[in-house]
Amino acid sequence: MFKKILIANRGEIALRVIRAAREMGIQTVAVYSEADRESLHVRFADDDVCIGPAPARESYLNIPRIIAAAEITGADAIHPGYGFLAENAEFAEICAASGITFIGPTPEQIRTMGDKAAARATMIANNVPVVPGSPGPVEDVDDALGFAVEIGFPVIIKAAAGGGGKGMRVARDADDFARSFQLARSEALSAFGNGSVYVEKYLDRPRHIEFQILGDTHGNCIHLGERDCSVQRRHQKLIEEAPSPAMTPELRKKMGDAAVLGAKSINYVGAGTMEMLLDEDGSFYFMEMNTRIQVEHPVTEMLTGVDLLKEQIRVAAGERMSVTETPPLRGHVIECRINAEDPARNFQPSPGKIDVFNLPGGNGVRVDTHAYAGYTVPPYYDSMIAKVICQGRDRAEALAKMKMALETFIVQGVMTTIPFLGRVMDDPHFAAGDVHTKFLETDGAYLLKEPIP
Ligand code: ADP
Repeated sequence: MFKKILIANRGEIALRVIRAAREMGIQTVAVYSEADRESLHVRFADDDVCIGPAPARESYLNIPRIIAAAEITGADAIHPGYGFLAENAEFAEICAASGITFIGPTPEQIRTMGDKAAARATMIANNVPVVPGSPGPVEDVDDALGFAVEIGFPVIIKAAAGGGGKGMRVARDADDFARSFQLARSEALSAFGNGSVYVEKYLDRPRHIEFQILGDTHGNCIHLGERDCSVQRRHQKLIEEAPSPAMTPELRKKMGDAAVLGAKSINYVGAGTMEMLLDEDGSFYFMEMNTRIQVEHPVTEMLTGVDLLKEQIRVAAGERMSVTETPPLRGHVIECRINAEDPARNFQPSPGKIDVFNLPGGNGVRVDTHAYAGYTVPPYYDSMIAKVICQGRDRAEALAKMKMALETFIVQGVMTTIPFLGRVMDDPHFAAGDVHTKFLETDGAYLLKEPIP
């Protein structure tokens, strides 16, 4: 087992890794930017190294500095968290070349799944259903339009290297197409340095359903149930829950089998997520695989009792994962992401000093956060400041707990999405579990518009 893990990340996920490592008797190293000097991950790690100025390019994305920090502190493994370098195959290679274990899948697995067009092709070759579309990247606008006409409008043009909702454009008809295509391509180029795009049918009211995968180097590969992440704004997840209100045991078996088949086809090792779309008619399609721990992993941890971070560490050290069959799913779990954003100002980030910070609690309530009273939310990074996860015996109980949790989560000094999320909990469609990825553009649109007291 590892002696010392360096965490190449910040915020709540850095704390989450520190907790898992500490429980396993492993030492930790925090790296931090000048903007994160007062962060809890720096305080709670055994060792810490400042790796540069605030901009991520010069700190959390600076590979030579992170490797140097690992070497100086004697770390034998690096956990990348999510975001930053988590899905950077070159970083995983450099770790290996430096004699440091990258806690995650192999560079090859990251590369195959990181290119969404290549991932699609891999799934097609293994009979996992994918959204109808071009088999691979398209050559140019005419080639792309050809596929669009063949599969029928509306279509979505997606960056092969895409992520975080960037590099995606919907085209409603042929007139709209050329413009959307150019926009997607230029956004892909500027965000990912890679203008490769492909075309997919745009589903009207799908649910986003993803399966948590866990695999090890001893040939085990299972899923740990699904998460329904349909409540999104601009393709970004706001609320996740499990089980999906749309799930049946039969559908879980079919989708879960497909997810595991897809992961096994690349001999996946570690924690990963197979993201799928479930259409209104019950068809489901592979969308992409995320080769890392995800923000919403606590939903699965509460539902199954499996500590996914510890499993990641075990598997990376070459040990067997501690569960080899899908565990029983216990009750219902809902997660809300709390962002320092102002819903009244189009969700623009609201950095600054937190004066009052009262956390919710109680039976079945988990909060993962790096914030505290007196903490200053820096303007440089993601605006998420906390995740609240509530578990009940059934969905109604989980929902009631979440309402109470949001009511008693008091943050002053910065604006947050807490009041907005509280209103979503009260919405009759959400309360009935009747949502899809366009919910906040259709039935739920009023939730984004109404002034929040
Ligand atoms: P990213 O990697 O940027 O997160 P994804 O491919 O995971 O992008 O898609 C993010 C979200 O975009 C999905 O959850 C869904 O809401 C929407 N989306 C993606 N592809 C389609 C599609 N073919 N039809 C309808 N919605 C889609």
